[in-house]
Amino acid sequence: EHATMASEVPDVPKMPRGTKNDLSQRQSSVLYHHLRQPPLNIVDGRGSFLITDSGQEILDATCGAAVACLGHSDSRVHEAIMEQLQKFPYCYSMFFTNNAAEELSQILVDSTGGLMSRAYIVSSGTEAVEASLKMAVQYYMEMSPPQPQRVNLIARKRSYHGNTLGSLSVGHHVGRRALFEKILAKNVHHVSQCYPYREMRDEESEGEYVARLAQELEDKFQELGPDTVCAFVAETMTGATLGCVPALPGYLAAMKEVCQKHGALLILDEVMCGMGRTGTLHAWEQEDVVPDLQTVAKGLGGGYAPVAALLVSRHVVDTLSQGTGAFSHSQTYQGHPVSCAAACRVQRIVQEDNLLTNVREMGVYLGQRLHQAFDAYPHVGNVRGRGLFWAIEFVQDKQTREPYPPSQAVAWKIHKTALQPEYSVSLLPGNGGIDGINGDHICFAPPYNCSRHEIDEVVDRAFRAVQKVLGTSVN
Ligand code: PMP
Repeated sequence: EHATMASEVPDVPKMPRGTKNDLSQRQSSVLYHHLRQPPLNIVDGRGSFLITDSGQEILDATCGAAVACLGHSDSRVHEAIMEQLQKFPYCYSMFFTNNAAEELSQILVDSTGGLMSRAYIVSSGTEAVEASLKMAVQYYMEMSPPQPQRVNLIARKRSYHGNTLGSLSVGHHVGRRALFEKILAKNVHHVSQCYPYREMRDEESEGEYVARLAQELEDKFQELGPDTVCAFVAETMTGATLGCVPALPGYLAAMKEVCQKHGALLILDEVMCGMGRTGTLHAWEQEDVVPDLQTVAKGLGGGYAPVAALLVSRHVVDTLSQGTGAFSHSQTYQGHPVSCAAACRVQRIVQEDNLLTNVREMGVYLGQRLHQAFDAYPHVGNVRGRGLFWAIEFVQDKQTREPYPPSQAVAWKIHKTALQPEYSVSLLPGNGGIDGINGDHICFAPPYNCSRHEIDEVVDRAFRAVQKVLGTSVN
């Protein structure tokens, strides 16, 4: 069987290999890792491939965590970064602005057709979420007359919005919250996700399910006191926790209607699903809603530099302008020139290379291939996604949809197996092993410029790794 090699990726200059097995020659690593054992050490990247210090070429089927949307070695982005570095690397946004940050905010505002009218540029998704929460509070403080009682936030169960205290509080990732519950914000309240596979009732139509979820939000407003709620926070398409679950048609519009009725803001977190991942630059373009505040991150800089943004709609900007005049927030690396230069170039490439068309076309193909490979598989309960953002959810029993016990950590086992040399594909595992409520899943999020051949490889390698772990042959 012939697998694509990184060296066969076209138009990519060869980079010198890293020194052999740097990490394994050390007694131990003093870097904190996600797990006890240091993971594979990456020394090189080419196109859709990451290359380890032992020369293993790993097909990056998830762009890390839906980040590296152009793949790992686009020399046009390297040039943009070098150009900025040769001018200057950094200036403090409290005192100065810079062309790269100005240009990036213009690109972002233009990309919304002016529906969002300013950008606040930070370094990570978590920071963008934190900024969105503080801006929502400041908005009501500076309204005339002020509404200082609006301090409650409503977010969704089993969502993920980041790992700092504020973002962890709006998120509902049971595993990541566990140790810190006592110091999480008490003003955050959670309602159900839109998760048809597990939470839509048999006797219910999609419309009835959406109406039930809107009623649940309405009830939450009533319980808290409608004029105490500042914002409702949701991912436009749920990424890491549930695994690539698109909202049902009309769901977000119905949620926004409830917010509007009570004068609360809608914050859409597009850190993972935004910037083209679902086939439109902003995932909300497919939902018939415009958020009041929106976060973007991963695909913004494509991993070439840490960069994220909060996009702010006109009425919020105007209210702040009439109040203290500025957002009461600041971070040292805000609007970082090198990060912004990288992101500007990534965004121009997405436009110039017409990559959203490829995301839509290859997205349809990826969906077809996943359905073909996994629909009949006894331990896959659900295949779902949109654009180049898909997941498969594992079950012990297809009929009852019973998930695997969390202790089996099935998705993580599949992830680890898939990294073995005979599969060499990186898959994003989640989450049943952590909260034990929904099933384990793996996500697929290949680069926007991927080919049919690469998708074939991704699905083939993933299928073989799944089979190896779950041990069932189909036919
Ligand atoms: N929001 C969402 C929807 C995310 O998926 C993530 C990261 N997976 C975050 C926020 C946090 O972003 P970061 O890890 O860049 O801080």
